[in-house]
Order: sequence, then C-alpha cells, then structure tokens
Amino acid sequence: MSARPTAPVLVARAVGVTIEGRAILDGVDLDVRPGEVLVLVGPNGAGKSTLLGVLTGDLVPSSGGVEIDGRPVASVRARELARARAVLPQQQRLAFGFRAREVVEMGRAPWHRTPAAADDLAVIAAAEDRADVAHLATRLFPTLSGGEQARVSFARVLAQATPVLLLDEPTAALDLQHQEAVLRVARDEAAAGAGVVVVLHDLSLAAAYADRVCVLSGGRVRAVGPPREVLTAALLTEVYEHPVDVIEHAGHLVVVPVRTPRTAPLPPCPRPEEDPCPAV
Ligand code: ADP
Ligand code: MG
Repeated sequence: MSARPTAPVLVARAVGVTIEGRAILDGVDLDVRPGEVLVLVGPNGAGKSTLLGVLTGDLVPSSGGVEIDGRPVASVRARELARARAVLPQQQRLAFGFRAREVVEMGRAPWHRTPAAADDLAVIAAAEDRADVAHLATRLFPTLSGGEQARVSFARVLAQATPVLLLDEPTAALDLQHQEAVLRVARDEAAAGAGVVVVLHDLSLAAAYADRVCVLSGGRVRAVGPPREVLTAALLTEVYEHPVDVIEHAGHLVVVPVRTPRTAPLPPCPRPEEDPCPAV
C-alpha cells in the first residue's frame, strides 16, 4: 500500500441542514477517502440519512457544501454524478411491475451510449452474483422479501460501477450471512479503490468492517476515526443513552448493550386476559 496521501473523493464542509427552524445537521465536516469504508453510526434521528442525502447531492444543505472529486456537487450534472457515485437509500422504492433483473439493469442507465455499455451484461451478472440475487432475476421485485429486495437494490448499486458508494443501512433487513457478505463486498470495493460510506446500526459490524467510524448525534459529529479509537464504552453509553460494554472477541471489538441478567425464569401467566403478564 502506498503511503502517499490521497485526495478525498467526497468532502463535506461545515454542512448545516435546518428544517422548519430545527437544526438537523450542524457544522458537519467529513471527508471520504478512496480505498476506505467509512461507517456512519448514531441513534435514530441523529441525521445519518440526512448527511448521506447531502453527500449524494440529492439534498441541498442550508449552509456549507459538499465537493465530489474537488468540485461542488451542486455543479455536477445528474448523469455525470450518477457515474461518480451510487446510492442505496434506506427505504427501497417499490419498483412495481419490474423484475429483479430489470432493477439491477437500472444501475447501468448512466452508462448508456458510452463505451462502458459494452460491459453491461458482464457487469450485471457479476453484481447479481456478488449480491447473491442471480436466482431471483426473474422474480417480480415487490414479491421479494425485504432482505431480498435490499440485496437486489445493492446489486443495482454495484452494477452502477462508480468510484463512490453511499449505502444507507444496507444490512438492516438482512440475515447474518448476508450482512457479512454485503460488508465484505463493501470492503472489496474499497480495496479496489472506491470510497464507501455505510450507515449501520450494528456497532459490532461497524467495528469489524470500518476503516473509520463517524459517530453522529443530534446532527453533529461526535467523533471520527479508527473503530478502536471511536467505539468506546464511554462515548457509546453517552450517545445512545444506554450503558454499553465494548469487549474483545476473536480479534474484533464487540459492542453489547448492558442488560439486566435474567436470573429467575419468567413467572407463568395464568389468565392473560385478566392479569397482564409481566413485561419481559
Ligand atoms: P437518521 O438517519 O440518523 O435516523 P435522519 O437523517 O433521517 O436520521 O433524520 C434526522 C432528523 O431530522 C430526524 O429527527 C427526522 O425526523 C428529521 N427530518 C429529516 N428529514 C426531515 C424533513 N424533510 N422534514 C422534517 N424533519 C426531517
Ligand atoms: Mg436513517
């Protein structure tokens, strides 16, 4: 690996987003470097999706700005932007009437009428393979399970073949095997030179796969840096307002919420209709 510093592919400078008088993001500075997986974490409502929207150029900030490859994102035309960065939104758009294959093919749209279009079939096949959705290609998208839909959308993002990937909770609906698989692919993309931003709730996944973690809370960056510097019990306990332990397991950090031990079996629930069961 070269020690030469590489220019960031995305830079957010002093980004503020205010909606109806409320600061959703406030003074956010963040850079995304080629070759890294940057994981965004933080409680519900911290501003993660809003920040991702600003980074993609879909959301114009109230103050500050974003540069992609050194240019203001607002000045880059939509088609060029679509060749520069691919976005997996938190909510899958219900692609009514489309088969999974057609959803993946949409990722190739920015490359129509360019030399890269010659690779469409191979790129689509590889994307489906990496997202483990080749067997779903002929299925109607809305009939797929939530996790299958998320993987098809991930395949669409991979098919777009861009140097920047922005993934909003790509693992939220996935089983354990596919969570690991998606993040391995994210790491592979970074190893091939991409800048990858991933929003995650699972802090152990963040620890395992991030080069750097950015902790957002209340619209501000609380910490950014390598997982071992950032994912501390003290900071996470404060930010999530719940006691958290950070332990070491098999060479990885594991973040676990502190729970009250269940020492006694739950009492029986004799007449639930009259006598509500104790909360678990
Ligand atoms: P996260 O992804 O971290 O859970 P979001 O970025 O989606 O959080 O939202 C941050 C906060 O901004 C939330 O409190 C949300 O309700 C609010 N918010 C986001 N978009 C809007 C909007 N268009 N109008 C009003 N409030 C919004
Ligand atoms: Mg979100």
